[in-house]
Amino acid sequence: MTIPRSHPRYESLVRRERLVRAWREGVVVPEGLIAHGRGEAWDYLFGEGTSAPALVAERAAAAHLLAASRPVISVNGNVAALAAREVVQLARAIPARIEVNLFHRTESRVKKIIRILERAGARDILGLRPNARIPGIESKRALSHRDGIFRADVVLVPLEDGDRAEALVRMGKVVISVDLNPLSRTSQRATIPIVDELTRAILNTKKFVEELKENPEEAARVRRAYRRSGNLGAVYSFLEWRLGSLRRGLVRGEKRPRAPKRTRATRRHRQ
Ligand code: ATP
Repeated sequence: MTIPRSHPRYESLVRRERLVRAWREGVVVPEGLIAHGRGEAWDYLFGEGTSAPALVAERAAAAHLLAASRPVISVNGNVAALAAREVVQLARAIPARIEVNLFHRTESRVKKIIRILERAGARDILGLRPNARIPGIESKRALSHRDGIFRADVVLVPLEDGDRAEALVRMGKVVISVDLNPLSRTSQRATIPIVDELTRAILNTKKFVEELKENPEEAARVRRAYRRSGNLGAVYSFLEWRLGSLRRGLVRGEKRPRAPKRTRATRRHRQ
């Protein structure tokens, strides 16, 4: 199917098509398709655009990734299908290592995902020969690399499951999640939950990495100023505003909303 660029939901439909293709190629598992559907539903609610609080979290994430001694980006099937090129560019900008880390792990899937990342320009990708286990996690989901996630101080885990996000936090790492569901256990447990669509979040974070690299003082200020509970509160305020606007017929469901008018509630949560 070719989607016309003029379609109001063009980007969302392209993502859906990519995911289905990746599922046919064995890169994405059926559970990944279902997770994508959950993400799409949330993206509708957010107006298919990045909210102001998500930008705050993305900037904080960039500042932490730049300050890390061993930053690692975790990649699963959905991430490879949707944003391989963007992830590789972000990893290069930081610079960070990339580790393929799968919930439904098979060696053949790991190899396929590594191939996708290599085609996008990545080298030395971890994931094929894990040599450590994340404590408190059962089965193959615990497998990790000592040079990667296991010993990382800052990990970016897009589309992670709640148990593993929690286990990584317990290991003392700064865990940056990307998940459109602000209620998921991942968003609730991560040190810096980014509530935004994966591709947008990775692109924005890369832009902030490039900006903050030039200004270490500002990066340090951003790290100090970030408050996860205040930021998640601002996400809820944004949703409240958005649902209120939809109720009053001020925005159409498929349109990207204008930035919310600053109210006392959103001002309180801004950092
Ligand atoms: P948890 O275990 O964290 O409570 P869960 O059981 O929903 O939540 P997963 O099955 O790993 O965990 O779900 C992945 C999450 O990723 C879902 O919350 C979904 O909303 C979100 N998601 C899916 N696709 C995207 C996307 N493209 N961008 C951002 N988030 C997405």
